[in-house]
Amino acid sequence: MSEAARFTLITGPMFSGKTTTLIRLLQEAQHTGKIIVVFKPKKDTRYALDAIVSHNAVQLKAISIPNAQAIFRYISQNPAQVVGIDEAQFFDAELPNVCAQLRKNGVHIIAAGLNKDYKAQPFGTIPQLITLADNHTELLAICAQCGAKAAYTYRKTSQKATFLLGEKESYEARCKACFKKH
Ligand code: ADP
Ligand code: MG
Ligand code: ZN
Repeated sequence: MSEAARFTLITGPMFSGKTTTLIRLLQEAQHTGKIIVVFKPKKDTRYALDAIVSHNAVQLKAISIPNAQAIFRYISQNPAQVVGIDEAQFFDAELPNVCAQLRKNGVHIIAAGLNKDYKAQPFGTIPQLITLADNHTELLAICAQCGAKAAYTYRKTSQKATFLLGEKESYEARCKACFKKH
């Protein structure tokens, strides 16, 4: 990771490889001798509580925390050169401030999150994180309907709450045309 890219952000729909990419970048940092610490929001209870896990079952040890400020508190008390954050869209409004402050203190940040919710609306603080990031990669999945590149997450159930934890039974990746069809 270059000095210029101290805050790397990975976004995209579900199944686009965000967690896989996050894990790869964190492991690369680890291999160069950096101390890495990985966080995930406590409310994401899918899979393990103490790891981030990709849909293809790759995983990395992580700490579940209740809010963004807890990242800052943990890093003030423990050594870390690179901080990983998965499911960044689920954190509160403090996350951009926390990332900016950590970067100022010389910590590298690699975060991943959904850029759009199931209504195709901006998800949490991701728009602010995109503005803040030194490097932003938007990943695409494969449309579950037609096989085209997919930038949208389609909810297959009729639940209306924005926060609905789920997997393939509840969500699929879709291209714009298939997303609009419903
Ligand atoms: P994300 O964190 O973005 O949800 P993951 O990194 O956990 O994604 O998982 C990506 C993996 O999911 C892919 O490598 C692939 O094996 C699998 N996958 C399942 N459905 C799809 C899809 N529709 N498009 C792309 N990958 C998919
Ligand atoms: Mg993921
Ligand atoms: Zn499609």
